[in-house]
Amino acid sequence: MNIYLDIDGVLRGVASPVEDVAELLNYIIINYPDTTYWLTTHCRQGYNHTKNALLDSELPRELVEKASEVIKPTDFGVLKTEGIDFTKPFIWLDDNLFESEQKVLEEHNCLSSHYLMNPRDPEMAKKALASLKTLKEV
Ligand SMILES: [Mg+2]
Repeated sequence: MNIYLDIDGVLRGVASPVEDVAELLNYIIINYPDTTYWLTTHCRQGYNHTKNALLDSELPRELVEKASEVIKPTDFGVLKTEGIDFTKPFIWLDDNLFESEQKVLEEHNCLSSHYLMNPRDPEMAKKALASLKTLKEV
């Protein structure tokens, strides 16, 4: 399964305790080291500023280094869905979904692959981790 990861509202700028966010990120890179991709405005059109974005958070530096090593870049122009490989099952963790992106997901019959993060919910990172663990068991 491919994992697509947003940064703002998912890994930084969130109400969840940094320990919970770190646990989520760590779980992802340990379990999906070869199939995790950035899907964020910090990485597109040929540039990858994800590491700087993450260093500008409270996440442990060591974890940021590891994540930057393991997680692969994607490229998209306008819609994040341009960066998704629809031939493979995936989970896309993002705090947003534009109507136009929703339409693309619906066309590919995979709206349920979008996991909506709520950055204002202090339990957000915990809930996302629990959902990923459930998926792993299926
Ligand atoms: Mg976001």
